[in-house]
Amino acid sequence: MKPSIDQTSFGSITIEGTIFEHDVIIRLNGLVEKRKKKLSKAVYGTSHIVSLAEAKHVYEKGTERLIIGAGQYGNVTLSDEAADYFKRKHCQVDLLPTPMAIRTWMIIGAGVIGSSIAYHLARQGRQVLVVERSEIAASPAASWASAGGVRRQGRHPAEAMLAIEAIERWRTLEQELEADLHYRQGGNLLLAESEGEADQLSEFVHRQHELGFIDVRLVDGKEARALVPGLNNQIVAGSFSPSDGQADPVATTHAFASAAQRYGATYRIGTAALGLLSHRERIVGARIEHGEVEAKHVVLAAGTWSDELAASVGLQLPIRTRALQMILSTPAQRNELQLVISAVRRVLSLKQLVNGAFLLGGGWLGDPTPDRRSYTMRPSSIQGNWATASELLPAVGEQRIARSWCGLEALSIDDIPLVGVIPGLDGLTLAVGFSGHGFALAPAVGRSVADQIDGRPTPELDGLCPNRVINFQLSESAQGDSTH
Ligand SMILES: Cc1cc2nc3c(=O)[nH]c(=O)nc-3n(C[C@H](O)[C@H](O)[C@H](O)COP(=O)(O)OP(=O)(O)OC[C@H]3O[C@@H](n4cnc5c(N)ncnc54)[C@H](O)[C@@H]3O)c2cc1C
Repeated sequence: MKPSIDQTSFGSITIEGTIFEHDVIIRLNGLVEKRKKKLSKAVYGTSHIVSLAEAKHVYEKGTERLIIGAGQYGNVTLSDEAADYFKRKHCQVDLLPTPMAIRTWMIIGAGVIGSSIAYHLARQGRQVLVVERSEIAASPAASWASAGGVRRQGRHPAEAMLAIEAIERWRTLEQELEADLHYRQGGNLLLAESEGEADQLSEFVHRQHELGFIDVRLVDGKEARALVPGLNNQIVAGSFSPSDGQADPVATTHAFASAAQRYGATYRIGTAALGLLSHRERIVGARIEHGEVEAKHVVLAAGTWSDELAASVGLQLPIRTRALQMILSTPAQRNELQLVISAVRRVLSLKQLVNGAFLLGGGWLGDPTPDRRSYTMRPSSIQGNWATASELLPAVGEQRIARSWCGLEALSIDDIPLVGVIPGLDGLTLAVGFSGHGFALAPAVGRSVADQIDGRPTPELDGLCPNRVINFQLSESAQGDSTH
């Protein structure tokens, strides 16, 4: 009597090996005995077809039944010759359904956004694979370059719910991720230097309250100077948001990545995704260096480079690359700037790090190199950024520039990110276009994307739905099978 092999027994087979190896799982005659042989060659592909030679390689005399499965992320079928061969040998072959692919959630990009999503998905108990071309938070990625401002005031209404949630999460994020994020909730102060600007701020504060940022308040020049000793005398008012703060972007990105890995996420560092794989109107994985990986769901979080991958399945993302500049000063002896300051009519964000160094940014530009792998600095931007900060806070001008750099960030067409699924194209979530303010939102973006993938309601993402700006008329490449 032939023993039967049910799906449950498939599940009990442990598939070992790396994602690039296609293993052959054999159960002779359905007995407990189990062996594993590698196919004769390493196979990099989602759809490996067992050749006649491979059929001969795995068959052994007297075998009545074989179970053949590809590696962790692969899929396997029999060639006609192999099928004939097994038939002649009276050997029944069961093809293992893509064992891991049907359970893999793939994230492209290990920046603060991709890693936060990885952490939240892994925490749900999912099998998460993160593919990162470079290193975690390495130049010129935005999460490496970022100013690390954790700001809620001044948010676009579409980001308000996420911003409120994020600010709450930041308070306990260090404990949650078990890492020092250098987080400090010192507040954020937006300054007015004339009566006209003070009137604008008054309306601004009113709008903040309407968005639910109820602790934001208008302060006069005197109070502003009390909050920031040494502030220039022309300041007449400020909008003070005490809940805002700052943190270290590189440390935070690493902390999310480590926490994701503690929950079982796999990180493949130094491995570029080369294109998305589609089948009919579904994204089914990605072509990566050395092979192809099938996945149940792909999250595209590759920062400003996401457009290249989206284009591989005919999606035109309305994002553009900007090289945003940062400057670090030599450390000042006194550390009096506890909050982050900016000004209504100036391009500036200014904070002081624990060692006393001032960190200047706010939107001054450098230039991305044509291949978008690096940038060049603009001397005029360095000079402008430094002069602006020194005017507002003369203590900055007493220091020297220690270092300057740029990070490449994706600015979306309407300056708010594209987060969520794309109607009509299953299996893909976008988390791109953070437009210079994604760092602060990262904890809430990760949580909400994971929840949306899990099928839970996520009204906080409604205003960021990619469909608002993209014409998702899928090109032919996305509607048919992609060429592997
Ligand atoms: C100078 C600067 C200052 C900023 N200041 C602030 C601030 O004060 N507050 C704030 O909230 N936000 C700020 N931001 C914005 C914030 O830092 C970004 O929105 C956020 O870091 C974006 O993270 P990300 O993970 O989407 O992108 P990134 O950090 O750019 O990560 C994308 C990752 O994808 C990888 N990748 C790309 N292509 C591929 C591929 N084909 N295959 C595999 N991997 C790939 C990259 O190597 C990279 O690691 C600032 C940004 C910059 C540049």
